[in-house]
Amino acid sequence: MTAEPSFARPFSSHLYDALTACRAVWSHAAKLALNIALPTLCVACRDPVEGEGVCADCWAKMSFIAPPFCPRLGIPFVYDPGPDMLSMEAISNPPAYARARAAVRYDDVARTLVHALKYQDRTDLAPAMGRWMARAGKELLDEADVLVPVPLHWRRGWSRRYNQSGVLARVIERETGVSVAADGLRRIRPTEQQIGLSRTERASNVQGAFKVASDRQSAIQGRRVVLIDDVLTSGATVDACARALLRAKAAAVDVLVFARVVDGARTPI
Ligand SMILES: [Zn+2]
Repeated sequence: MTAEPSFARPFSSHLYDALTACRAVWSHAAKLALNIALPTLCVACRDPVEGEGVCADCWAKMSFIAPPFCPRLGIPFVYDPGPDMLSMEAISNPPAYARARAAVRYDDVARTLVHALKYQDRTDLAPAMGRWMARAGKELLDEADVLVPVPLHWRRGWSRRYNQSGVLARVIERETGVSVAADGLRRIRPTEQQIGLSRTERASNVQGAFKVASDRQSAIQGRRVVLIDDVLTSGATVDACARALLRAKAAAVDVLVFARVVDGARTPI
């Protein structure tokens, strides 16, 4: 987990900006030096690789999610039940969003990619990850008016300098022409990290944590929104975001993530 810096708050905004700029320059210089000194390595297994991203072995280990899956939640089915058959979860505990899709299952290779993008400044991975997402979410994106990334809390934004969901949303915008409503959703109170919390704790942790700011209302009202995030675990965060967007009168909210946790394929009912 990224530790939140203890010195972020007391400084003036000028000093904060200056420090942010210094960090960015330093990181860029360090990356240039590394690029000259080292061959490109597979982000997952660290073997040398042609180009960037993952090597052929790791590529083969990625589990891309393909039909058949629950049309509502996007969870893979063990067999194809024909159109419009839903999973048990979609019926017993329907989410606020209409449909969710993910490019891959959240397994070892996907976890490595997500962590590299999130914590190690590997924004060079975003184009490939975003393209896989654009393909997995084609059905949703074809009908979408606007993309909204799940926001970070500002202190996490400082410690990471960028929002990984926002970076992925920009790639999907370039791929599809559907524009990003930057800052469309805001986190209006800090939330605990969701890791280690139960399903119920996750839901209450993020309940009421998001809001569409009044100056962004027009970007959301009456529009079909695709919410973008890196990982879907219990779905509590995207559900809380979808509720906030629907309160701001979004016409519909779908969800597109890079990876989702799949604890076994489902038998359709
Ligand atoms: Zn590899």
